[in-house]
Amino acid sequence: MMMVQCADLHLLDNLAGWTPMSFNIVTKNTVRDRFKSPPRPAIWKDVEDKDWNSWVWQQQKRIKSMDVLEKVINVTQEERDAFAQSHEMFNMGITPYYASLIDPNDPNCPIRLQSVPKKGELNILPSDLEDPLGEERDMPVPGITHRYPDRVLFYTTHNCPVYCRHCTRKRKVSDPSSSAANKQLEEGLAYIEAHKEVRDVVISGGDPLSNSDDRLEYILSRLRAMDHIEVFRIGTRNLVTLPQRITDAFAAMVSKYHPVFVHTHFNHPKECTQEAFDACAKLANAGCVLHNQMVLLKGVNDNPKTVMELNHKLLMMRVRPYYIYQCDLSQGISHFRTPVEVGIDIIEHLRGWTSGMAVPHFVIDAPGGGGKIPLLPQYVVKHEGKKWTLRNYKGLQFDYIEP
Ligand SMILES: *Cc1c(COP(=O)(O)O)cnc(C)c1O
Ligand code: SF4
Repeated sequence: MMMVQCADLHLLDNLAGWTPMSFNIVTKNTVRDRFKSPPRPAIWKDVEDKDWNSWVWQQQKRIKSMDVLEKVINVTQEERDAFAQSHEMFNMGITPYYASLIDPNDPNCPIRLQSVPKKGELNILPSDLEDPLGEERDMPVPGITHRYPDRVLFYTTHNCPVYCRHCTRKRKVSDPSSSAANKQLEEGLAYIEAHKEVRDVVISGGDPLSNSDDRLEYILSRLRAMDHIEVFRIGTRNLVTLPQRITDAFAAMVSKYHPVFVHTHFNHPKECTQEAFDACAKLANAGCVLHNQMVLLKGVNDNPKTVMELNHKLLMMRVRPYYIYQCDLSQGISHFRTPVEVGIDIIEHLRGWTSGMAVPHFVIDAPGGGGKIPLLPQYVVKHEGKKWTLRNYKGLQFDYIEP
């Protein structure tokens, strides 16, 4: 192979018949401008930008009562009743930022369905399970779920900025008595240290970004010091519910511990605001790899058009769609569940029709601890001996003969 020097590159251009004509070099990347944020609700009109853009302020001003929520949106009687009957079981908590994305007049607004209690939550079906994923069963020590051969789930807190009404860990999340104390954290780290087969740690919660930067750095540096740990992922919804949490200091801290994957949880295109864009950009610029895990929710994102739009926006934010989860059998979320066919149909409408990068895996986390099982449309029409009859995304059939 000949070394190609810079001057030779011009030669190659000339050989290919290309000469540098005049063209406008893009001096300003305007992709960010395609992301919009709704105006602030009236009650926060006079808040200074430095406060609004501060995660501490956003965290302190979280909406926890109907009195405050009523000043932001037009609350329905159903929501008022549902709140009264549900808040002892599962708190309401909404950051002002996330509340500003709610349509004040639409009771079916997708942001609202995810954050404001609804009557359906009170409806516990006999088939609902308290621990649908069997996470407690596979818990060798409190705070660790070890189900797969080479990776573990590590719970580091039980708090979240916004309590998602569809949360699968309702039994734990928002309950202060179950928070991972320091002792539990040490036991979890000791377990990971002792299990050399673990090469991938999913740092989860609650939301791990509810920990201070210092506490998170302690966890990351302890894990990075273990020779058998190759990668870790931070599973956080802060990019969606409290994007201000991603400060320059946080991004700089995380970048010391690469490879770091960040798994987030966008469910609707309305969540892809300029603030979210900036938060993703900080992490991506700091070298993190970003993935999205969407939960399929009735009335929020249970159609191909919404998911396609979401996934296109995610790619522009440098977030790769990774999973679509079938809504699991947790108690009090049956009003969100969709038929299994809905998820398969969404994949059918993505694969081939848009970038493969925008096509995630549709999975059901099997009840009782079976783990994630992928489901996809059937592309094999017939298989006899060496002959496979396949169909493509448009339904055209093709034969593939094995040699
Ligand atoms: C989802 C999950 C993981 C990670 O699974 P991947 O398919 O590797 O993303 C690990 N442990 C548990 C218990 C999980 O539920
Ligand atoms: S951020 Fe995750 S853990 Fe927290 S309430 Fe939402 S779904 Fe549950």
